[in-house]
Amino acid sequence: MAKRRLSDQQKRRISTQQKNKIEDENLQLDEASTLTARVVSHHGRQLFAETEKHEKIKCKIRQNLGDIACGDYVVVQQAPAITGEAQNVVIAVKERKNLLVKSGFAGATKPVAANIGQVVIVTAIKPKPNPYLIDRYLAAAENLPAEALIVINKADLLDHETKKIVDDLTELYQSIGYRVITSSMKQDVALEELEDALSNTTSILVGLSGVGKSSIVKAILPKETIRIGETSESTGEGKHTTTVSALYHLKCNGIIIDSPGVRDFTPINNSIEEITHGFIDVRKFNGACKFTNCSHTNEPDCAMKQAVDEGNLNKQRFNNYLRMVEEFNQQ
Ligand code: GDP
Ligand code: ZN
Repeated sequence: MAKRRLSDQQKRRISTQQKNKIEDENLQLDEASTLTARVVSHHGRQLFAETEKHEKIKCKIRQNLGDIACGDYVVVQQAPAITGEAQNVVIAVKERKNLLVKSGFAGATKPVAANIGQVVIVTAIKPKPNPYLIDRYLAAAENLPAEALIVINKADLLDHETKKIVDDLTELYQSIGYRVITSSMKQDVALEELEDALSNTTSILVGLSGVGKSSIVKAILPKETIRIGETSESTGEGKHTTTVSALYHLKCNGIIIDSPGVRDFTPINNSIEEITHGFIDVRKFNGACKFTNCSHTNEPDCAMKQAVDEGNLNKQRFNNYLRMVEEFNQQ
């Protein structure tokens, strides 16, 4: 009987299998040496994560793990390095609830924050609230998915004219089902209400520059958290660099993720379906029009237009929905 000879392809496959096996043996999960931690800041091939005991650890990242963002839960293996020093290596990223991404160059996306429970849309008396922008952020929150909260800050600047704007906005968004908080960081108005609304979840604060996002974070962060947020790291040259965390703890298990990427986040729409899903009041009427491909503009028996006429759908919200669809179609 002729000896069975291995083809080159078979040899290659076996060699790769062995290599993989060796790598896997190196990474064999010894329960005692792995732990779950949450990423608090991320810089290239290294990140800082926080253990369940709130200890901050510096970790290297195993290759080919894909995107990792602040707020991700990661599996960390503690293994001695060649030097004998203990070394933390991120070996896996746990399944995430959601991931906020920013558009980058040439249609690429960049991860910004993960596992977000709530999007806090911050507006102010000055600069004046922009309902279209609020609706875009609300749509982004619905699609993440995450809860949404609207804050109208700088209540100390209220006058006769702006009071009407704020009252109308509050009534509109509350009638749809969103929580609205009017605050003033200058006069410490609604701080407790904000703390309460931000407890037991992970929030991000979004909104135009100058509305008071940093002031809100500063006002509700316990003083010691601000210090904990900074990690001093020895660079080996006797110098210390300060790595600023992007994840902060509030009272009552509240967490805020705040980083430049979050702060300048502008919502992106990926499809008409997403836009429709993003308007919780409009989507109720989706599919109820006479024509299945209704554009909700000129067609007869349009359920959405009818709802507006009958006072069951706010006209401004419907117009903002149509505007968002139109802008998407023109892209
Ligand atoms: P951000 O760009 O959204 O982070 O806004 P900042 O927190 O930097 O605030 C922008 C400006 O608004 C600063 O000069 C703040 O002092 C001011 N500001 C923040 N909150 C209030 C407020 O409640 N009332 C008033 N009058 N000014 C405020
Ligand atoms: Zn229609």
